[in-house]
Amino acid sequence: MTLIFSGNDFKYELESVVKLFIPATLFDIHFDIKPEYFSNDFCFIRRKKGKKETYLYTVCKIDTKTYKKSQSILNSSHNYDGECEMILARLLFNCLTALTGESAKWGILTGVRPVKRVNKMLDSGMSKQDIEKELSEKFLCEKSKIDIAYKTAITQRRLLKDMSGKSFSLYISIPFCPSRCSYCSFVSQSVESSINLIPEYIDRLCDEIAYTADMILGKGLTLDTIYFGGGTPTSLEANQLEKIMKAISRHFDLSALREYTVEAGRADTITREKLEVIKFCGADRVSINPQTMNDSVLKAIGRRHTVKQFVESFKLAKEVGFKSINTDLIAGLPTDTVESFKNTTEEIIALEPENVTVHTLSIKRAADLNRSSGTVIDNPAEQMVDYASQRLIERGYNPYYLYRQKNMLENLENIGWSKPNKESLYNIYIMEENQSIIALGAGASTKLVAKDGNLKRIFNYKFPLEYIKHFDLMLEKKNEAKEFIEQNIL
Ligand code: SF4
Repeated sequence: MTLIFSGNDFKYELESVVKLFIPATLFDIHFDIKPEYFSNDFCFIRRKKGKKETYLYTVCKIDTKTYKKSQSILNSSHNYDGECEMILARLLFNCLTALTGESAKWGILTGVRPVKRVNKMLDSGMSKQDIEKELSEKFLCEKSKIDIAYKTAITQRRLLKDMSGKSFSLYISIPFCPSRCSYCSFVSQSVESSINLIPEYIDRLCDEIAYTADMILGKGLTLDTIYFGGGTPTSLEANQLEKIMKAISRHFDLSALREYTVEAGRADTITREKLEVIKFCGADRVSINPQTMNDSVLKAIGRRHTVKQFVESFKLAKEVGFKSINTDLIAGLPTDTVESFKNTTEEIIALEPENVTVHTLSIKRAADLNRSSGTVIDNPAEQMVDYASQRLIERGYNPYYLYRQKNMLENLENIGWSKPNKESLYNIYIMEENQSIIALGAGASTKLVAKDGNLKRIFNYKFPLEYIKHFDLMLEKKNEAKEFIEQNIL
């Protein structure tokens, strides 16, 4: 597919629109060349400025069919460039819808955080009707997506109204897994290959915990939530988890903490001893993720545990006394079917977890699945997601965070569902970018939110070996966080 831009360079936004219909393709990009030169499929996107008006025009060709759309705007229009870009995106979207017969339910809203946009509209005082109208007419979103984005934003506003501007969250990265699942692109190392690094990694992580606590000491910041993610934190032994968690409680003031999550992740890493240590050290929420309740699908995605192991781990976590358990599911996994996914949903609902997060498979470049040639991913993920949404609503769950990723099957989204008053605050903060998150460990990225809403990101080294080797250098970089906090948050 060739994309030709004439009189404009709205490449980034408009390429995203084309990708809604023709995903996973490398486009041939040209500027200011006539489309007659191309015999293959193309999209020609033109802006031609006249004396008073600008003519906006798109023509797309796929196989033997072509489709054209055009519109004009006044040169004196408010936010002229922004308006031209939006109009061209809509024209392009309409051409591609007509040619492919496909629909993209989020319309031209291609960003990863649609709820953030709704929150901004609410902040500006827009009514529900105005928001619905804008999302429908300007962004071409379908009603089902508008409804869920709006509902999610309203839940978030209730939860965030008491958040202090001087509160922050702590993220602890444990980038190890017992083995690698085929759909995964996280920077996680299998314990088998990196077991020798783990003791030193933990020592450095404890050093980083102490250094960071010291850096913010006496600044009046309060620790609101803690999240252990990865990887699979429970890849570590019970005594190793205890060492890290005790370092946190020794160095940070946990008296205002509202939520403490450890992502246990895979059932093949969970033992009673580990859960008891996690609970004893202060965590009140765990995530145990089956992804599917079908053993043959688990095998197909290289996740080395069974459904039985998941159910046992889930029940163990209940027995140990966690007040909130999340379970992650993925719609669109290879070899999964709509019937099997419906069964997964029913079995999860029967366990009554406080949170259920329904992901849609995202094929990223790094994942083994994407690398293995000949793997055809063709799956009715939308029916799966719709079924889960309907059943979770019927069982009293509400959507409380939502995000999209690039290359998601059918341009869908990930939705966090929760029983009333059991929502995870951390998940909202990370998606809506409304609280600073100080992240520690390999692969972790700190995100600081200034008083004026600006963001600063600081990245730790990606891999455990780099993290260990360049640890002192990395601590020096932490001073950037200190300066930013002093100048922009306090
Ligand atoms: S357990 Fe999670 S982080 Fe680890 S390899 Fe599997 S999907 Fe990736």
